[in-house]
Amino acid sequence: MYDVNSRHAEDFINHEEILETLAYADENKDNVGLIDALIEKAKLRKGLSHREASVLLACDIAEKNEEIFKLAEQIKKDFYGNRIVMFAPLYLSNYCVNGCTYCPYHAKNKHIARKQLTQEEIRREVIALQDMGHKRLALEAGEDPVHNTMEYYLKCIDTIYSIKHKNGAIRRANINIAATTVDNYRLLKEAGIGTYILFQETYHKESYLQLHPTGPKHDYDYHTEAMDRAMEGGIDDVGLGVLFGLDKYRYEFAGLLMHAEHLEAAFGVGPHTISVPRLKRADDIDPDQFDNGIDDDIFAKLVACIRISVPYTGMIISTRENQKTRERVLHLGISQISGGSRTSVGGYYEPEPEDAKSEQFDISDTRSLDEVVRWLMEMDYIPSFCTACYREGRTGDRFMSLCKSGQIQNCCHPNALMTLKEYLMDYAAPETKAIGDRLIEKEVLNVPNEKARKIVMENLRLIEEDNRRDFRF
Ligand code: SAM
Repeated sequence: MYDVNSRHAEDFINHEEILETLAYADENKDNVGLIDALIEKAKLRKGLSHREASVLLACDIAEKNEEIFKLAEQIKKDFYGNRIVMFAPLYLSNYCVNGCTYCPYHAKNKHIARKQLTQEEIRREVIALQDMGHKRLALEAGEDPVHNTMEYYLKCIDTIYSIKHKNGAIRRANINIAATTVDNYRLLKEAGIGTYILFQETYHKESYLQLHPTGPKHDYDYHTEAMDRAMEGGIDDVGLGVLFGLDKYRYEFAGLLMHAEHLEAAFGVGPHTISVPRLKRADDIDPDQFDNGIDDDIFAKLVACIRISVPYTGMIISTRENQKTRERVLHLGISQISGGSRTSVGGYYEPEPEDAKSEQFDISDTRSLDEVVRWLMEMDYIPSFCTACYREGRTGDRFMSLCKSGQIQNCCHPNALMTLKEYLMDYAAPETKAIGDRLIEKEVLNVPNEKARKIVMENLRLIEEDNRRDFRF
């Protein structure tokens, strides 16, 4: 039975509740009165329930969809301004014992090169990432209890945080690894990870069991309840996501919001981020073999509907998407994007040899970080390398309450400008720097009060003239 507070997957992601939600959405997708009322409710910026949001997702009245897009754009502006947080993935290992039918790391794939970074290789990769300008990483790995132990991850995190090359430093390492125990989550928290990310892949249990036929990931309940265990282990920033293309997107959307509602109800804090990956071509994976691919229009609608349903939750888009698609959805709700990414185990320090490829999937946006930064600034976005919230202990409900009161803006805007300035000084191409300096000059005037504005201006001067780094609020 559906119960948002229950700790059992089948209760908080209840199949019957999702089916009823989809039927309710179908019945009401042309109900202009209800749709207007829901749009009005979303304007209060307190979010929508999975049932309400599902009606808006199902609605195909062009003029109402226009209103939904406009509102998403406005909410994005109100909560995140024109800042976009930058990050890069770092694949630690592609050893995997699971049988996921959509992922080339599946255990039966005998021709993909299997690799696990040594601590020395991690050093080289991290220095290469720091030399690009990255400060925030998402660590990635397959699931293999023999090769990819918790001890290995803890060592990697320690190595990553210890490397200081020139003015570089990784200031926040998020981690996307297989579901694990409360004790292990506690160890990850103690090691100083930022967000624990785990994609549900699909909320549809029957499909899930078919898509994950073998290995520990086959256990739907253990996977679905992972965020509860992570929170119990003290990790208060968790990142949700589904892999769009595996099952029907409307089912996934309802499941995703139910999961967010559950975390909020059970722990008093919803997800820190939601990722919106779409299935991609990869070594031995053909996305055309899967029936539920979604086109760019539906993808944009999904992003907009997530944005208005969970206004306080950051949204992440990776280089799975090309420049054009990213451009289309950025203003609809995305708050974090990756740049200059490699999905191979190693590959930042030097390209992988042709005969030993370990990539997880094909990247669509192959531009360098500097090109992505410049492109964002040309569209008047502020690329932000800020990690201050995490380092100042503003995580979980502390972060959410600052978000909900609107106060977070007072930190985010100045921090984005100062960390962008660091990037421009240390890593940008001359043309990128010129564009960035003009943008900062304009944006510093938008720092909310005069006292803060003066401090920011002074800090910007110190970054430029005294080569001082790491200012933050
Ligand atoms: N091993 C971890 C787990 O069990 O959840 C996940 C790490 S994996 C490196 C990160 C994510 O990549 C997966 O959760 C999946 O959603 C995504 N992924 C796998 N195959 C993909 C493909 N062919 N196209 C796009 N994304 C894919």
